[in-house]
Amino acid sequence: MRRAYNAGRWDAARTHASHLLSRPSEQTLARSVIVRSYWNEGRFQELVDCTKEWHDELSHSYREQAIDRLKVTGGAKKLTMMKEEKLQRLRDDQPQPKVPINWSAEHMDANFSQEGSRVWFRYPEGYVFWDMPSDYDLQSTHPALLCLTAEVLLSPWISSSKSPLPKGRTLGERASLSFSAGTDSTAAAAVMGDSTLLGYHRRSFDSMLDHRNAERLINHLNSTGEREVLSISSNHELIRTNHGKPVGFSTDFACASHLLLLADHFDLGAIGFGMPIDNTYLWKGRKFRKFEETQYYTYWTKRFAQAGLDLLFPVSSISEAGALMVVKASPWLEHLNSCMRGDGVKGCGRCWKCFHKNGPLGRKMDPHSKEIQILLNKMPLRTAQHALWAIQKLKLEHLVPHLSDELKSPLDWWEEAYRPGLDLIQQPWRDIVQERTEKWLPYMQEEKMLQCVNLFPQYPV
Ligand SMILES: [Zn+2]
Repeated sequence: MRRAYNAGRWDAARTHASHLLSRPSEQTLARSVIVRSYWNEGRFQELVDCTKEWHDELSHSYREQAIDRLKVTGGAKKLTMMKEEKLQRLRDDQPQPKVPINWSAEHMDANFSQEGSRVWFRYPEGYVFWDMPSDYDLQSTHPALLCLTAEVLLSPWISSSKSPLPKGRTLGERASLSFSAGTDSTAAAAVMGDSTLLGYHRRSFDSMLDHRNAERLINHLNSTGEREVLSISSNHELIRTNHGKPVGFSTDFACASHLLLLADHFDLGAIGFGMPIDNTYLWKGRKFRKFEETQYYTYWTKRFAQAGLDLLFPVSSISEAGALMVVKASPWLEHLNSCMRGDGVKGCGRCWKCFHKNGPLGRKMDPHSKEIQILLNKMPLRTAQHALWAIQKLKLEHLVPHLSDELKSPLDWWEEAYRPGLDLIQQPWRDIVQERTEKWLPYMQEEKMLQCVNLFPQYPV
């Protein structure tokens, strides 16, 4: 029995133990082997069943713990089922085109149609749409743009969406930016040329996400004419809910699907994404990598180029902290708030965004809120390099004694620009980005500070 137990042969150990249960001198040991082997296997229901009549201390204690575990897993299962049902209802409630489209795995551009100003996209499980400007014409949109749109929406699940793109689209004249109205995205808008078209994706269905803070900045930019912002409503964030994921973008580039579809309409030659150093040169915000050598960068840059578009990372020389410095120096600060739970003017003061974006801007924030406390104590620390900088900036070191090693040296360099990041930006778009970045931020004197970032290496990459 002992040999079987120590070797992890739980079934065999239990069989031996059950023969010994009737012997008073062996009973305690036999019960403990049965109970602990069920526990080790995670068979909590069996453990509860067999200990009904066993009142010794060990059996009782394991029984209580097993009951708790069953409650947790049962609750989690129920919650998942409820979420699943809610998502199914949401998908069922979505509009459908008047004329159905047949799904084609071979010809991605054949999955699009237009009814009025609404563009439909057929994917295997259903339809999604975008509400385009009234003079938009799908027919005069190059098929490569349609195929690339399908790829950014479906590539995690449909490999044929990665097929070669139809040739022939040449680079347009105007730059654009996938614009969320958050800090990083606003910093990207600030360093790009004034004629950049900003494309805001508006979730077409109700959710926890509050668009009011974003709308305030968008209205300001449009009404003053400082930038042109286009808001496009779409429900494409539902696609991935068919694959067990919550509402959201299928890939990092899905947030620009509206701009891909509009590229010929606005003669676009580039689409920018406001990804700061935290998402480019740092892996998960905590380990340096040569971004330009990643498969992610080389693959997507090539795909966009094949559709006649430069894939731009206008803030790849700027960290989240640098982006805060840029928006602070810009005339837009008072119209901006990254918090998605705010009331349209202020942030909620209790979320992680309020902690690391609004806090360093000097805005009111409660570092003792439940969400902020949980995330400050979670390991590995989320968006680690930036969060550490924010802790130092806010002088909150006393709240995180477990991070004292990481907070030893000053992190001011994190606010400065990383010169090599500008090399990622193609001409003719780079000059203006470089000029404006230099206007607002000094360059890092010690690039090694960034190149050596490797936080919490005990957690695997
Ligand atoms: Zn907030």
